[in-house]
Amino acid sequence: EINNEFSLLDQLNRAQRAAVEFCDGPSLVIAGAGSGKTRVLTHKIAYLLELGLPPYYILALTFTNKAAREMKSRIAELVGEKKARSLWMGTFHSIFARILRKEADSIGFQSNFTIFDSSDSHNLVKLIIKDMNLDDKQYRPGHVHGQISRAKNSLITPTMYAANTEIIQYDNRARQPQIFEIYKRYQNRLRAANSMDFDDLLMYTNILFRDHKEILDKYRNQFQYILVDEYQDTNFAQHLIVKQLADEHHRVCVVGDDAQSIYSFRGANIDNILNFKSTFPETKVFKLEQNYRSTQNIVNAANSLIKKNTEQIAKDVFSENEVGEKMEVISTFSDFEEGLVVANKIARMRLENHSAYSDFAILYRTNAQSRIFEDSLRKKNIPYRIYGGKSFYQRKEIKDVIAYFRLIVNPSDEEAFRRIINYPARGIGDVTVGKVSSAATLHQKSLWEIISTPIDYNLNVNSGTQKRLKAFYDLICEFIDKNESLNAFELAQEVLKKSGIAHEAYQDLTPEGMSRSQNIQELLNAINEFVSTRQEQGEEEIGLVDFLSEVSLLTDQDTDKEEEAEKVTLMTVHSAKGLEFNNVFVVGMEEDLFPSSMTKSEIRGLEEERRLFYVAITRARKTCTITYARSRFKNGQTTSAVESRFLREIDPAYIYMESNSSFSTATTDKAVDFWGTMREQRLQRESRTDKNIYSERSDRSSFKAGPSTGRLVSVHNSSSSMPLSKEAKELEEGDIIEHERFGQGEVTSIEMSGNDRRAIVEFESAGRKQLLLKFAKFKII
Ligand code: ATP
Ligand code: MG
Repeated sequence: EINNEFSLLDQLNRAQRAAVEFCDGPSLVIAGAGSGKTRVLTHKIAYLLELGLPPYYILALTFTNKAAREMKSRIAELVGEKKARSLWMGTFHSIFARILRKEADSIGFQSNFTIFDSSDSHNLVKLIIKDMNLDDKQYRPGHVHGQISRAKNSLITPTMYAANTEIIQYDNRARQPQIFEIYKRYQNRLRAANSMDFDDLLMYTNILFRDHKEILDKYRNQFQYILVDEYQDTNFAQHLIVKQLADEHHRVCVVGDDAQSIYSFRGANIDNILNFKSTFPETKVFKLEQNYRSTQNIVNAANSLIKKNTEQIAKDVFSENEVGEKMEVISTFSDFEEGLVVANKIARMRLENHSAYSDFAILYRTNAQSRIFEDSLRKKNIPYRIYGGKSFYQRKEIKDVIAYFRLIVNPSDEEAFRRIINYPARGIGDVTVGKVSSAATLHQKSLWEIISTPIDYNLNVNSGTQKRLKAFYDLICEFIDKNESLNAFELAQEVLKKSGIAHEAYQDLTPEGMSRSQNIQELLNAINEFVSTRQEQGEEEIGLVDFLSEVSLLTDQDTDKEEEAEKVTLMTVHSAKGLEFNNVFVVGMEEDLFPSSMTKSEIRGLEEERRLFYVAITRARKTCTITYARSRFKNGQTTSAVESRFLREIDPAYIYMESNSSFSTATTDKAVDFWGTMREQRLQRESRTDKNIYSERSDRSSFKAGPSTGRLVSVHNSSSSMPLSKEAKELEEGDIIEHERFGQGEVTSIEMSGNDRRAIVEFESAGRKQLLLKFAKFKII
């Protein structure tokens, strides 16, 4: 059913409605978190469609593929599936990759170009640094790649880089005089491999539009209306694409919040939003002030924090939702305990509030923090999904298979070639690859061309090696042939079989090996799914190149396969941008972690960290819990930690701190730390020997004496001859317990049975049970 225009605008407040209705000039919606910016975009698109603008005239750019999908499905609800499908909606990278494939010729690429993901790029930089015999301490590949990336995002080509010493403030020429040369070689190698990295997608789009007026005109005519979400995080290259496309008709609407600009490390430039008016002088600015997402306490707490930033556009944000609970701040003895406390609290809140696991999110500053929470959640059988980190498509076995596909589609792809020339092992060693590589450099050919006719290039290898190279060459040629007639799924099966990967994977019966072969199977499933979806959409020939394009643009934020699943979400604050959850845990709020040690020396860096914290808090609808640990395992040792300065910046009226934790003083309190250590040792032991968790009996009395919140009590096994364990006595009505066999349940009453006590427990899955406390195996959570 299609809503009419009236009901569409009815779902908006006055300010939002005005922003939606203004359609014939540039507009900028600038407003705080949760005030409905994304909602304005969604409704504006629906409104334009209602007015009769054909969907393929609309270009909508989002920050993640996930955001694009979500927006599309909301629009489908408003105006119907069919119209929503034909919108040009996606990330800058996915939309412009599509355009670049169409126009590849004009910029000297073939349309089957490979897209390098960040680890491919990283590898290539590393290789070049090695080739140039540079010291990789002085030229750390990650750092060098960062420099190249920033140059590209500022549209600085290698030539410009060399010519202009003023242009790049962030470059340290004196210390790294060879960066320019690395950049140049990197760019040449990519081109020779008919490949682009992520930043190229934006840079070449700009070059395409700059140098080919007729092509620019074509897209200017097509994209009659341009909309961009999260504009505060666009970089110069993205800003310029928008500017070029909108330069004639000026029908462009961007939305954003300067207080949520968190990607400056990737070249995002807050000035794009601040100067939007100077790009399009007749811009109409709309401000939204009512937050519909969060409770008053959360909105007020977030406001009090962000006020501390000096650089910002003044905004009033208020909520008319319920006042809500104060934000709880929990201090734990260690990072390990932090994990347990959060897992316990999630379990408890879920039962108490009848909420779903998917109502919870744990947000952290760095990916590495996830492991602790994964462990603690797993231990409690709490299902979770994790965004970022090593995603499915980043796993080695998957990248290896994908490398076959890449080489088949684009034999010049050097990175793919190197990955699989000797995988599975076929006796072609590094020395041979080195020779092929030198010949390629010398003759300015791709590695593939060298092995196609090694004799032409005087490749100096023995006859055995020659044979093996030839066998590899023939194998790939056979796949290239079949790529003409088979679809992506059929060819993938063929590749796994003929290359020997399938054989190798299925032989390995170690747990790691099994998980690798499961992953490979999962990849086949994904390809199959991809092919059938496209077929349903009416496309006939769905080759590997289509699948590859899709895969290479998946970002950390998109690798979630079980979208609807009932799971706790774990992600970095960065990837939580734009999302919302009923209950949010912001963890690891410690100095040198959040704010991170790298950024806090500069005011600008510190302000960005503060914005990041602001983003984290404002993801919460109903509750926001903040935790920090007073000691943390870092770089192989336990180091003590101090709570983040940002915690003191929040107006105390909106936060609640447990009575037994106080800022800082706790870390110096020796007595407290003594109990903490005891408890810590205990917890560590339990985690090591999960099976014995119910049968250990030492240091029991210290268990509850520790300083922090997580009440973790163990009740011991039937062999106990003690009359009644101290812990068991403490079990009370209303406690949530975890039973070894029955799982989680709530104690509804405690009764005496002869000399023994027993508890009546309502288990979630096992139903009502009576437990004799001296025998029962459970712990209180
Ligand atoms: P962020 O800055 O975090 O991206 P945002 O400004 O884009 O936030 P939205 O995500 O669009 O905000 O909206 C926040 C929440 O408030 C959403 O759940 C949205 O549906 C709801 N909302 C926004 N405006 C209204 C409204 N007028 N009536 C009811 N709900 C609204
Ligand atoms: Mg938004």
